[in-house]
Amino acid sequence: MKEQLALLRELQNIDLELDEITNKKEDIVARLKENTGFLDKLVEDLNSQKEELEEIRSLQLRKNDDLKEVKSQLSERQKRLREVGSAKEYNAVEKEIESFKKSAEQTEEELLHLLEVIESTEESIKEKEDKIVQLREGIASDEGEAEKRLAELDSQIKALEERQEEARGEVSKRVIHKYDFIRSRRPGLAIVAAKEGHCEGCFMALPPQQFIEIQRGQSLEICPSCNRILYFWEDAIGEASPSEALKAEEA
Ligand SMILES: [Zn+2]
Repeated sequence: MKEQLALLRELQNIDLELDEITNKKEDIVARLKENTGFLDKLVEDLNSQKEELEEIRSLQLRKNDDLKEVKSQLSERQKRLREVGSAKEYNAVEKEIESFKKSAEQTEEELLHLLEVIESTEESIKEKEDKIVQLREGIASDEGEAEKRLAELDSQIKALEERQEEARGEVSKRVIHKYDFIRSRRPGLAIVAAKEGHCEGCFMALPPQQFIEIQRGQSLEICPSCNRILYFWEDAIGEASPSEALKAEEA
């Protein structure tokens, strides 16, 4: 059993490395997705702002027409004022002139305000367009980098999977089944050390008789608390621990 457990520790190191690389791949893909999501949002904002601008511009056209109309009414009344006969009529036309003047002033003010809105909207559209160009460039170069990195990780995965298959072939079916079952229920460690009477996976004390069995290493021992496979810690002295195995791979 001790030999089986040693093989299982080796397999676990490989599997943990595979987990780590798979996580790295997922991070890269998620980051790319985040970037394109941000870009899509910005393009959407830009399009709605362009529509807004079109609406403001058509309002501007309508207001300009209104102003022309008011001004022509105004000059018509001013002409009429010179031709009226009675004081009563004069007053009535004068009143109309006042009202047209007010209306023209108000429309001019509105047009001025619209002009300001148009200018600031155009500025904001320009900023967004520049930002979108930058983002697209950034994303294109990120994607290039990411593809390279993903290809590297894929080749690491391929090499590890070969080692994994080899290691699995050397472990007995019963032990592999137990190991796979534990890993299917919880990611991370499936086989942990038993040291000084406790499980190093959950740090719970083990029954003394079980600890003796683990030291003997003739049976497959499972932690009663965390259900992981246990080995006697001294048996693994000199072996690379999972984190060391990972570091060695990085270097
Ligand atoms: Zn445990």
